[in-house]
Amino acid sequence: MRTLDDLDVKGRRVLVRADLNVPLDGEKITDDGRIRASVPTIQALAGRGAKVVVCAHLGRPKGKVDPEYSLRPVAARLGELLGQDVAFATDVVGDSARQTVEALQEGQVALLENLRYEPGEESKDDAVRGAFAEKLAGLAELYVGDGFGAVHRKHASVYDVPKLLPHAAGGLVVAEVEVLRRLTEDTERPYVVVLGGAKVSDKLGVIANLLTKVDRLLIGGGMAYTFLKAQGHEVGRSLLQADQLDQVRGFLAEAGKRGVDLVLPVDVVAAVTFAADAEHEVVEATAIPADREGLDIGPKTRELFASKLADAKTVFWNGPMGVFEFDAFSGGTRAVAEALIGSDAFTVVGGGDSAAAVRRLGLPEDGFSHISTGGGASLEYLEGKTLPGLAALED
Ligand code: ADP
Ligand code: MG
Repeated sequence: MRTLDDLDVKGRRVLVRADLNVPLDGEKITDDGRIRASVPTIQALAGRGAKVVVCAHLGRPKGKVDPEYSLRPVAARLGELLGQDVAFATDVVGDSARQTVEALQEGQVALLENLRYEPGEESKDDAVRGAFAEKLAGLAELYVGDGFGAVHRKHASVYDVPKLLPHAAGGLVVAEVEVLRRLTEDTERPYVVVLGGAKVSDKLGVIANLLTKVDRLLIGGGMAYTFLKAQGHEVGRSLLQADQLDQVRGFLAEAGKRGVDLVLPVDVVAAVTFAADAEHEVVEATAIPADREGLDIGPKTRELFASKLADAKTVFWNGPMGVFEFDAFSGGTRAVAEALIGSDAFTVVGGGDSAAAVRRLGLPEDGFSHISTGGGASLEYLEGKTLPGLAALED
């Protein structure tokens, strides 16, 4: 993959595909992690005298202009973090975009409006996507792919534009790919993966592939209940995906056959309802009362997981261990995060909610070797899939 060092950017218009898909509360950015992660590449380009044209998506406006998903607040925050003004185009490839780009001087930065206002961005029709890509590419002379969180999408700005312009990977994409390589090739052992989050169905592909690679697989979060049920235990009103039971039984068998230590919760925090202030108690994972739902892993499980992580050399963690958004059910997620922070292993956090949990719990982000900016993209990489955005950059 070519990097920024391979491009001569001075005085040229460089289109940067960034991932600026941050959570918003109205116009207030509630977590600017992805903007901060995008700054170094933009700064490097501006510092080398490029005219930097940033493009990105926000939310799912589905091909229509919807003010709720405007990137304008993001332009303001990006400007603060860069310490320089960011010109904002009120459309993606229209008059405003052309004029804004035209007005850029060397070292200046502009942000285009939400790519997903344009139906061509996400179209499944190659011709429709290609036509939009032509317009986007027409705004610049060079392309830098740095939106790691979107590289698993076959979208115009990710997949088609790099085919039309000389291109390179930005620093964020290079760093993320380097980490993922360490998780898939010549990985240092013991290699332990901790999976949690809501649904097992979101992570079937990654579990199947990881079972061929890891020494231990620790399962917590909502998905653990489908595993417990597959082992024949009742899970009360816990999150259960009954349609995945066969699949999960297959995973249990496969783990046994391959000698992978697949570790499930031994106790859970069981609540009477799904609420922050729900009455709750710790129960054995094999004895969840019929009227309760497991919202976190229990104290014995936290210790068990910590012991399984203690001698690890490589750890990948994706998905909270419980409903960390409620303080009463955040202890399991905190325990796993702290075990990783205290470990000498190469520790990687993947997943938007897992990264958000680290920040919400006030834990130090630099306590981990790496926190990925792209949950979906890292999971698809670990699943063994080809990511369109990376393939396009490699050509
Ligand atoms: P990530 O974004 O890190 O990949 P997911 O999106 O898969 O994680 O899952 C995150 C969600 O899973 C969180 O909102 C959390 O509240 C939820 N969750 C975790 N444990 C449980 C549980 N026991 N019951 C219901 N939801 C859970
Ligand atoms: Mg999530």
